[in-house]
Amino acid sequence: MKRSTDKYVDGKRHILVADDEYINREMLENILSDKYDILKAEDGDMAYDLIRQNHNTLSLILLDLMMPRLNGLELLERLKDDPELKSIPVIVLTSDQASEVESLHRGAADFIPKPYPNPEVIKARISRSIELAEDRQIISATEKDELTGLYTSEYFYRYGEQYDKFHPTSDMDAVCFDVNHFHVLNERFGMAKGDEILKRIASCLMKSFPSDCVICRKTADTFLVYCPHRDDYSKLVETISASCDDMPTSVKMRVGIYASCDKKLDIQSRFDRAKIAADKIRNNYSVFVSNFDEALMQKELFAEQLMDEFPKAIAEKQFEVFFQPKYDIRGDKPVLSSAEALVRWFHPTLGTISPGAFIPLFEDNGLIARLDEYVWRRTAEKIADWKNRIGSSVPVSVNLSRVEMYDPMLVETFEKITSDNNITTKDIYLEITESAYVRDSDQIADRVAQLRDHGFFIEMDDFGSGYSSLNMISELPLDALKLDIMFIRTAFDKRNDTRMISIVIDIADYLGVPVIAEGVETEEQYLTLKKLGCAIIQGYYFSKPLPADEFEKLLKKDS
Ligand code: C2E
Ligand code: MG
Ligand code: MG
Repeated sequence: MKRSTDKYVDGKRHILVADDEYINREMLENILSDKYDILKAEDGDMAYDLIRQNHNTLSLILLDLMMPRLNGLELLERLKDDPELKSIPVIVLTSDQASEVESLHRGAADFIPKPYPNPEVIKARISRSIELAEDRQIISATEKDELTGLYTSEYFYRYGEQYDKFHPTSDMDAVCFDVNHFHVLNERFGMAKGDEILKRIASCLMKSFPSDCVICRKTADTFLVYCPHRDDYSKLVETISASCDDMPTSVKMRVGIYASCDKKLDIQSRFDRAKIAADKIRNNYSVFVSNFDEALMQKELFAEQLMDEFPKAIAEKQFEVFFQPKYDIRGDKPVLSSAEALVRWFHPTLGTISPGAFIPLFEDNGLIARLDEYVWRRTAEKIADWKNRIGSSVPVSVNLSRVEMYDPMLVETFEKITSDNNITTKDIYLEITESAYVRDSDQIADRVAQLRDHGFFIEMDDFGSGYSSLNMISELPLDALKLDIMFIRTAFDKRNDTRMISIVIDIADYLGVPVIAEGVETEEQYLTLKKLGCAIIQGYYFSKPLPADEFEKLLKKDS
């Protein structure tokens, strides 16, 4: 980028004096030569040649309008049409007031009347014109990206805001274009090819959008466009790729769109959303257009908030363990036989958050191990408390996540929890979801076998949801099958078809383990399951998950 200081030559700026009258040239040189380096031309042609030769260092032109060969107005016209020359400021020297206006129209920066005014006035006008022109050049140098000629992002956002001011009712899209794996293209084919690709993309974008749309290159290979709403961007992506057809490799663009954007959001946030949409398909090789999804973003923000607040929630004991009773229905009367520990998050501002909202999230990011150990300990403490205070308890099962099955210390952890609380392996059961068994089944089966060897009772949770093969089930170490809640739902919907439940009960019989049915909500369901030979029932028909003190009442009633 050329800065204003580049124009100094031997400490002085260059000025061209173009006047056919010798006396005028000498007079101006006398006035200006202590501060400026003066070039002189005695006709229009000579002036034009000197301007061309010195355009990089020339700070200003003093131009007489009445000159032989090429007159001043014609010269002005030529300068105006030449991108290299048009930014050099021109001050017109004239005695003819009518042509002052004309010369200003043709791009002159100012004029000095003849006969010349006080030399100090001339110097001040020259100095002011140079200053203004140089300021303008600095602005335009930072306004445009050198490689592509598109706006830089800072100016882009300003022009975007300006667009809104002039078109307050326009339905606008914030669009973000990215080149897939641009850094790889750069590595493989060199920076020069990379630059060429970026220039092609820029030119394609400029051709494809009306000239009043605002376009910028945000970073290396990211382009932003602020334009009136359009329905389809896929054609445009194809056009851009096609414009790079002769490149050594195919150039694939992806585009993220925040369509019909909310103008109450500041302009940068609108483009952040377009970028989020583009990043969603970063590694997708078949989808190139992605729309910003508000609901998804809210979900992600919520997920992030939960993850951020987890340590504080554990420290402040915002998690509480609830207990849902399980009833043995094999005898005449249902008997409270055990319970399941289910965690609840009582958030100070968000209220109660159900495990469905945070367990899968914590399973993905590893926080689950800390939460589960907390739940296991609280459950063991509660069992010990009930045994000590009311002299009775039932076994309570806790849930284990798949990741925990890979923890080599798992058995030790449970042994420690039981011994710390002076309870036995018969007091705390372990629920392991079927999908954990399905993947890496050998490794999981080994870990389960280890837990059973130490005396723990294992229930396979959500059975029927994970597609375990019959072959696999027959070899798995387990002590009970918990029927997935969906079996009950589908069995008792309009079709009223309980055959699948019968099959599972037959499998459990074959394995010699009881079936526990979850999600039993009605008397009809309970009676049917009893008739089919289901051993244990858990569900709202008997009770919802209860806080510890309410579950304690059930224990007392039962003992
Ligand atoms: P799950 O282990 O299969 O637990 C049974 C879920 O069914 C519980 O949902 C329970 O409240 C719900 N439920 C019980 N009876 C009925 C009923 O009659 N009708 C209906 N509609 N639902 C019923 P919850 O408490 O929301 O837990 C959801 C899942 O979150 C659990 O499914 C379990 O996989 C997981 N989870 C809960 N607490 C923990 C925990 O401490 N650790 C781990 N790793 N996972 C947990
Ligand atoms: Mg469970
Ligand atoms: Mg379950």
